[in-house]
Amino acid sequence: MPELPEAEAARARLESGALHRTIAGFALGEVTHMDLPDEASRERLMGTQFTRTRRHGKYIFIGSVDGPWLHIHLGMSGSLRVMDAGDELPDYIRLTVEFEGDRRLHFRDPRKFGRIEVIDDVDDFIAAKGLGPDALEIGDNAFADAIGRTRGAVKSALLSQKKLAGIGNLWSDEALYRTGIDPDARGSDLTQERIGTLHRATREILQSVVDTGATYSKLPDDWLIHRRDDGAACTRCDGTITKKKVGGRTSYHCPDHQTGT
Ligand SMILES: [Zn+2]
Repeated sequence: MPELPEAEAARARLESGALHRTIAGFALGEVTHMDLPDEASRERLMGTQFTRTRRHGKYIFIGSVDGPWLHIHLGMSGSLRVMDAGDELPDYIRLTVEFEGDRRLHFRDPRKFGRIEVIDDVDDFIAAKGLGPDALEIGDNAFADAIGRTRGAVKSALLSQKKLAGIGNLWSDEALYRTGIDPDARGSDLTQERIGTLHRATREILQSVVDTGATYSKLPDDWLIHRRDDGAACTRCDGTITKKKVGGRTSYHCPDHQTGT
């Protein structure tokens, strides 16, 4: 499921391939039960150009200074493809933005949990959603407040988009694995030092994944991402990777080196 790094990779593709081209039309695929811009919303974009992109947490935006913007959420399985007319299309294209000339922006989404809408202002959108600071941008004190004061499981706090935006199941598990923190640990039971270490690890992990364009095979061999299997060998001690539910989410951790205080 896409998290901040996958959204950032998608934003970068928009930035390099979909700006400064006049929007000439739209094409819809099979879109029953999907949240996509209606005809009136699409009409607002006709003849305009996207001139900038933004991202906040898992949310992607492409638009212009005074709008309107497209907000794109990848959902469970969404992805963005910038291609040219005539290129062979993958299945499950739900929405295509047709620019003058050959350039096309495709939204592919096999499972249909993604959504796209036309919005007027990105900051208003972020405020209305109640999103916390972006997980790559959040400062040390704000991170300590958001995660270190929670009486609930630290993993659940990392997943809360209202505390900090962008982290999901994969990269919260990775950060806790690297820092030796039990996903069930209460945030308020962790020392300030461990919270600081967790913040640095979170940022480094997200940035590393962004740097690979969210290509997991390019990530180091000793990362948890390569061994999310009950019974796999831990790379940080002699322990065994174990699956458990934390806050309703399937979590992988090593009970030998990940501790609660
Ligand atoms: Zn271990």
